[in-house]
Order: sequence, then C-alpha cells, then structure tokens
Amino acid sequence: MNAASEPKFTRRRFNALLATGAVALAGAPYVHAAAPKVVVVGGGFGGSTAARYLKRFDPGIDVALVVAERNFVTCPFSNTVIGGLNSIDHITHGFEALGREGIRVVHSVASAVDPKARKVHLRDGAALPFDRAIVSPGIGFRWDDMEGYGPEVSTRIPHAWKAGEQTLLLRRQLEAMPDGGVFIISPPVNPFRCPPGPGERISLVAHYFRQHKPRAKILVLDPKQKFSKQALFEEGWAKLYPGMIEYRGLADDGVVRRVDAKAMTLHTDFGEERGDVINLIPPQRAGDLAAASRLTDETGWCPVEQLTFESTRAPGVHVIGDAAIAAPMPKSGFAASTQAKVVAASVSELLRDRAPVEPKLVNTCYSLVAPDYGITVAMVYGYRDGKIVEIDGSGGLSPLGATEQVRRLEADYADGWYRSISSDIWG
Ligand SMILES: Cc1cc2nc3c(=O)[nH]c(=O)nc-3n(C[C@H](O)[C@H](O)[C@H](O)COP(=O)(O)OP(=O)(O)OC[C@H]3O[C@@H](n4cnc5c(N)ncnc54)[C@H](O)[C@@H]3O)c2cc1C
Repeated sequence: MNAASEPKFTRRRFNALLATGAVALAGAPYVHAAAPKVVVVGGGFGGSTAARYLKRFDPGIDVALVVAERNFVTCPFSNTVIGGLNSIDHITHGFEALGREGIRVVHSVASAVDPKARKVHLRDGAALPFDRAIVSPGIGFRWDDMEGYGPEVSTRIPHAWKAGEQTLLLRRQLEAMPDGGVFIISPPVNPFRCPPGPGERISLVAHYFRQHKPRAKILVLDPKQKFSKQALFEEGWAKLYPGMIEYRGLADDGVVRRVDAKAMTLHTDFGEERGDVINLIPPQRAGDLAAASRLTDETGWCPVEQLTFESTRAPGVHVIGDAAIAAPMPKSGFAASTQAKVVAASVSELLRDRAPVEPKLVNTCYSLVAPDYGITVAMVYGYRDGKIVEIDGSGGLSPLGATEQVRRLEADYADGWYRSISSDIWG
C-alpha cells in the first residue's frame, strides 16, 4: 500500500477517535521496506502505553521496551495500600501481555540515550539501535535540597513517592505506631508527581487511624501556599476526621529545612517537630536517565515540542510523562498515558514521513478521602501556537457540599478508573 492509497486520516477524525477512546484503531498498518525500530524506555504509565499503542497503530514497527523491573508497582492506588485497604498485589502488574503483542520486553536499566548514534545504551554494555526513541523515566529526587535527607535515610523515613518497597515500609511503620502517636507528612514544592497525591495520602492514613488508632494525630508541613483540591479535601477532613489533622502551609512555618533522622525530628524556620512516623516527600526532577542523556534543562525537567513531545535537545527522542515539561498538564499517570497515545500516533506518522496530527489531551485525577468518598479534577487540553493549553469550560472539580451518594459514586468511579487504565496498559 502506498501513501496515496491509504485512507484519509484528518485531524478532525483523529480528534474524534481520541475523544471516543477508539484511537487504537487509527492509522492503517503500513508495510515498511525495513522495519523501523523504536526503543521505548520505562515500563510505567508513559512507556508501557506508548509501546503498546505504537505496536497497535503499526504492527510493522519493531518495538523494544526497556524496563528496569520485572513487575511494575503503580503509585496510583498505592495510598490505598498505605491505608490498609488493598494489598500490594492489587497495584502490581507484569509485562506478559505486552510481550504477547509482539513488543520485545528487555528487562534492563538504560544508562543513556544517544541521539547522535541513535542508540539506547544498557547498563550491561549492550546497545539497542533506534530510528526514534520514546523515554518515560518518571521522576528523580533532589536529595541535596533537603539537609539531612538522602537515599539511605529514606529507608527509615520513607518518601513512598515511588511505589513498591517504600509503600510497604510506610505501611509497616504506620501499623507499628502506637495509638496517640504523631504521623508527620511533608509534601514537596511544585512541580511534583501527582499534585493531589499528598491530600489523598493524608486522608487514607486518617481513615486507618480513625479505625485503629483514634488518638493518633497527623501533622502536615507543606512548603506551599495552597494544594490541589484543597477545599474538597478540607471539607472531607472536617466531616470524617475532625480534630485529627493539623495543616501548616508556607505562611504557618510549614517549610522543612532539615531532617534529623536519629531524633525523628523535622526542623522548620522557627521550630522542630518530632514524629513517631515521618513521610518526607523530597523535591523532584526528571528521572536520572534524562539528565544522563542531557535531555533536561536548568529546571531539571525535559523541554519538548509539545505537539509531538520530541525533545528540543535531542532530535528523534520523545520524552513523555512526569519527566516532560508539559504544563499546564499535571504530572499524573493519566496524563502520561494520554501523552503516550499521542506520541505513539505521532511517531508512527513521522516514521512514514508524514506530518503528525494535532491531538486533544485529557487528564482526570480521582482521589479517595475515604474508601466510599471520592473527589475528582478533570481537564481537556488543546494547542495554541504549538503549546498545550486548557480548553475553556472543558474540565472541573467535584462540587463542594455534594451528597454522600455523589461521593460514593465518585469512589466507585475511582476504582473503575484504576481497573480500566491498568488493563489498558498492562492487562
Ligand atoms: C501516591 C501517588 C498517587 C498517585 N495517584 C495517581 C492517580 O490516582 N492518578 C494518576 O493519574 N496519577 C497518579 N499518580 C501519579 C503517577 O504515578 C505518575 O504521574 C506516573 O507514574 C507517571 O508516569 P511515567 O511513565 O512518567 O513514570 P512511571 O510510571 O514512574 O514510570 C517510569 C518507569 O521508568 C523506569 N525507568 C526509569 N529509569 C529507567 C532506566 N534508566 N532504565 C530502565 N527503566 C527505567 C522505571 O523503573 C519505571 O518503570 C500518583 C503518584 C503518587 C506518588
């Protein structure tokens, strides 16, 4: 089939398909003289989605997926594990389904992406050649920005902002904490992975305490002026956990300057606080691979052409997910997965020497304030002058003062969202 005889695939049609979720059907398979090679790095929300959808859009592409782990543990719903609602198995996913679809899953760590030689170098010395690469390495931590904190200390004072062992560690510590103890949580400065994540964590720890340690207290030390879905969370906390949560923001000495892991204290500008369990979430940047491959700028994140997510620093390398500068989109799993579908479509077009289409992007973030109490924020994004912009009137927040039934329904939708996105990516 040549390009002229292929079905016409207009921007409007692509947008319509994206909106209906039928984008997987877009783009007829194309027979290449030699199979073009795409290497995807990262088996999380961005990387696994990109590999899967690229293969579906064009089975003729040779897709390799480099993943560091055997099984991926999701941050979404990890707060339910910390709160004792689910086991870690519920949020753990393998890559077998991707392998069955013809994706070459390479369990290894990529040490660098070389855009000139068009190779992804692996830690074991091997190198994977590519025509285009898609990189979704997630986040790294700015350990140096927090005196007294670092990878070693995080084995006693967990961040639990990458899911897996850290999630289980925090859960064990909360279980071992005495009733009447103090749990301190300190969220990071913007921008960071999952803006509503700390609010959900505070809520589900409070839910656990209310049932098992009703005299326990939660102290929040937040370096920010305000936080995502604040009014909705605070409404829920006042209703469900009265008197349990003390929130201190930027104006109330909420900025943690130093950690003393031995004494289990966090030092602020004007005082210190001792916790029985401390959850310190450090400031963030793009995952290590991004800096090692010179994909980052001075902010520590990766600048991209926002239409195709192609790096402005490394032609032929696309960066998606938390690592990419894609504001106003938040750093969320849903956003990473949406970007991955867009990039899969763009890359399959670019490999056919055709112009990529201008898509719509979407994000929805559910949070649980309790197992039967959900809240959401949603937004649809388009483009203006090649930059991602929010589409006026498209999104919104759950209403304040909603009925219990509405909150219960949103909790059900949250559960449905998690099941459907996990099955879309790894199922
Ligand atoms: C507590 C919490 C709750 C959250 N809840 C939600 C939610 O409800 N909804 C939502 O949409 N989002 C949520 N998020 C955000 C979501 O987890 C992230 O935005 C999402 O994981 C970003 O996807 P990503 O592909 O950029 O990174 P990840 O999903 O973290 O994937 C990165 C992958 O790259 C791999 N990798 C990194 N470097 C290398 C390398 N050098 N070689 C090989 N592999 C490598 C990693 O091992 C990992 O597999 C939550 C986050 C947290 C912390």
